[in-house]
Amino acid sequence: MFAKLKKTLLESGYQVILTDNVARGRGKARGVKGYIVPDDLRIYINKRIGVNDRVETLIHELLHEIYPVWGEQRVNKNAKKAFRDLTVSQLGFLQFFIMAPTEIKQMLKANHLSPIC
Ligand SMILES: [Zn+2]
Repeated sequence: MFAKLKKTLLESGYQVILTDNVARGRGKARGVKGYIVPDDLRIYINKRIGVNDRVETLIHELLHEIYPVWGEQRVNKNAKKAFRDLTVSQLGFLQFFIMAPTEIKQMLKANHLSPIC
C-alpha cells in the first residue's frame, strides 16, 4: 500500500498544503482534518492537528484519489491500517509533506541531525 501512496504523492502532481482554515474548503470535506480538491490538484491538511494525525489524514486523502469509488468508511479503515503498517522511514517520508519548515527544523534539532559545529 505504501508504494502506491508514495507513487501517487510524487507523480500525481498533487500539492500538499497546510492550512488552519479547513472549514471553508471546497471538495470532499473531511471534518476538520483535511480535504482533497482534485480539480486544483491540492490536498489541504489541518495544521492544528498532531503530526501523526496529519500523516493519517494525508493517507486518507490519497486513498480518495487512488480509489475514487471507495466510500468514506472504507477509506477511513484502510487509511488507519496503512498508517499502522508504516515503517519508521516510511513515516518519516510522509511527515515531511505535512510538516511546516519550522517544525522540520525543530525535529532535526531534537534528533541531533543538524550540524553542531
Ligand atoms: Zn474522506
